Amino acid sequence: MSDTPAAPGAPAWTIDDATEHYLIDRWGNGYFSVSPEGNVVVSPLKERGAQIPIVEVIREAVEVEGLQTPLLIRFQDILRDRVREINEAFNEAIAENKYQGLYRGVYPIKVNQLREVLEEILDAGKAYHYGIEVGSKPECFAGLSVHADNESLIVCNGYKDDNFIRTALIGRKLGKKVILIAEKLAEVRAIVRVAKDLGVEPMIGLRVRLMAKSAGKWAESGGENAKFGLTTGEILEAAKIMGDAGMSAAFRLLHFHIGSQVPDILIVKRAVREAARYYAKLRQLGYPLEFLDVGGGLAVDYDGSGSTFHSSMNYSVKEYAETVVYGVMDVCDDERVPHPHLVSESGRAVVAHHSVLVVEAFGSIEKTPEEPLEVLTPDHKLIRDLLYTRDHLAERSLTESWHDLVDVKEEAQKMFELGFLDLRVKARVEEMYWQLVERIQERAEALDPEEVPDDLRDLKRHLADQHICNFSVFQSLLDHWALGQLFPIVPIHRLNERPTVQGTLVDITCDSDGKVSKFIDLKDVRETLSLHNVTKGPYYLGIFLTGAYQDIMGDLHNLFGRVNEVHVFLEEDEERGWYIEETIAGNTISEVLGMTQYSAADLAARMKAQVDAAIKSDKLRPTEGMRLLAEYERGLRDQTYLTLPRDERRDIDNGRTSLPPAAK
Ligand code: PLP
Repeated sequence: MSDTPAAPGAPAWTIDDATEHYLIDRWGNGYFSVSPEGNVVVSPLKERGAQIPIVEVIREAVEVEGLQTPLLIRFQDILRDRVREINEAFNEAIAENKYQGLYRGVYPIKVNQLREVLEEILDAGKAYHYGIEVGSKPECFAGLSVHADNESLIVCNGYKDDNFIRTALIGRKLGKKVILIAEKLAEVRAIVRVAKDLGVEPMIGLRVRLMAKSAGKWAESGGENAKFGLTTGEILEAAKIMGDAGMSAAFRLLHFHIGSQVPDILIVKRAVREAARYYAKLRQLGYPLEFLDVGGGLAVDYDGSGSTFHSSMNYSVKEYAETVVYGVMDVCDDERVPHPHLVSESGRAVVAHHSVLVVEAFGSIEKTPEEPLEVLTPDHKLIRDLLYTRDHLAERSLTESWHDLVDVKEEAQKMFELGFLDLRVKARVEEMYWQLVERIQERAEALDPEEVPDDLRDLKRHLADQHICNFSVFQSLLDHWALGQLFPIVPIHRLNERPTVQGTLVDITCDSDGKVSKFIDLKDVRETLSLHNVTKGPYYLGIFLTGAYQDIMGDLHNLFGRVNEVHVFLEEDEERGWYIEETIAGNTISEVLGMTQYSAADLAARMKAQVDAAIKSDKLRPTEGMRLLAEYERGLRDQTYLTLPRDERRDIDNGRTSLPPAAK
């Protein structure tokens, strides 16, 4: 859609309009807001600390660190704040309810295994004896060596072989509280056998398969048909295996996980009560269970609607903690058993907020280009029909005009296929068609939504521009592609300027699925995003709440690799209140080729052989051949994403944009 300026007399667009339109104060959770200059600013400690304009971070990353977008920015202080909030919510609920057990949360490292992320979380969690959860052998190896606080737990989920079990039990030898969660009976037998072999007392947990089932995109993790978990009979059998081996005391924890992103607190309530009943009945049978682990599932309000929609949640962290603590206590008191220590394995709620992916939109595919066609068009009946439709738009019904328009378009296509339509007429018909669709859409939008004819309801999507963005959905936003998960996406600057374009985003992979065409909305899912014109300067979009799973699950589709990354810390001693502590360069072309078994040296050698042959056969002069070869070798060290030209228009300091001046 061409850039449509605000109607004359329309009220000015303010940053409050932007905040409301993009729902920033809803999903932002106090971490994100808009500055008077129209830039998204980050408050990693909410109202308790300084603000960081994202454009300033980009400026420094580009100009000082020499990195380009796409750029992943990690706000490490947000991680600390999330750890604090979750732990304090449980501790407060425990104190308020006079609950007799402790809270011993663990961070599931699969949600984001990056060492700097894990270390920050463990450091922030020291005061709370916050531990980790691992779900595979490699995670177990990493977790065991990074974990340092023997009061905190290491919970081992996932299917296990002897090597996994032995490694976990090395932790027991070192005095760590490593709890092996058995996913099936054979694992209980294996744990008992390996523990005897090593001469160590294991701590064993069992994952119970609850009837309670979640809702939304991860609902299949729970319920009768779940991939993991023991039935009631299997739990009793597992306890017997431990008893027969003289290891009854090893049965320390009962665990459940009904799925990630549980949107409705009533589901949490039901699952907690069901699991607490299992715990209580097992205690009554004499098993020395100490811990009840409620798994993950604490949701993130990606769309800010506060609803039970799959990308939202109808509860707060505080209500979640209160629900777990009270639910377990109520059942235990009823059954007259001691309150267990509580464990939760929240992942996305800890890490989602801390990272923002910034991508540059560097072009757009428009249905109605701003520049009209300059070709001269011969007189033609189809064009006269379109002119009639245009000139009588006001006095005819919108559907009548729409049907005429569709008719002309189809007629033009038929004539073209039969060879009766001149390319110039076809071009003019297409141009006029889209202009008229836009005018019909404008009129439809002015109607009461109830009165918009069915035929015209889809026009907005039909008309949407496509902003081309320098990133890969498959590398950086996998859950959007695979599951349709929604993420808040907002221009990180120019928010004091009215967005004039409705568009979708397409990435640079050569796959038509490489796009974002579903966006957050309060009541529904939006088909388009309000955007600004990209031709006026560098245009950066922030994809927010991407810290959970997206960083780590990305794949190499089209061989686009990991993106550049900067880690930002608040620092009172810095004049502007923050600094970039670390940068991690994204993958180079030779690195991603290496992952698919191409060695850079071998590729260069093969190119050299071809250049030598071309020189021999006089297709190339030797100097030219060597220059081309050097260029190829240099190119292998380039990053995988596009290097966009920094011409005058694209200069970050181009006065046209609302980017703040460079930091002194
Ligand atoms: N624990 C287990 C066993 C899981 O499978 C998962 C993820 O699905 C989690 C914890 C983390 O869940 P979430 O990120 O929803 O907190």
